[in-house]
Amino acid sequence: MRAELEDKRAELEEQLTGLSTSTGDIGGISFGKRVGEGTSFAVERLSQVAAHDRLGDTHAEVVRALAKLDDGTYGSCDVCGEPIGAARLEARPWSTRCIRHAG
Ligand SMILES: [Zn+2]
Repeated sequence: MRAELEDKRAELEEQLTGLSTSTGDIGGISFGKRVGEGTSFAVERLSQVAAHDRLGDTHAEVVRALAKLDDGTYGSCDVCGEPIGAARLEARPWSTRCIRHAG
């Protein structure tokens, strides 16, 4: 389980690095009104930023799941402490919350 999570973490870090280098100055561009005007450059930037955010969120979860392995709380919800559930953990081994408290 730990190896699987560490693989996932490494994979996400690689993707995050790839995204930041290919987009250069993420966050350095003002999107503002231009998106509504159909500026494809800005729209493309936005989707890259969104992808970066999603990857960052998942990365944070994987890091948290690894910490839970360390402190022995892996498999229980960070909010209520109830078991996360085998099916959920199988689908997303880095889940740190039960289905009720997810998101
Ligand atoms: Zn919960």
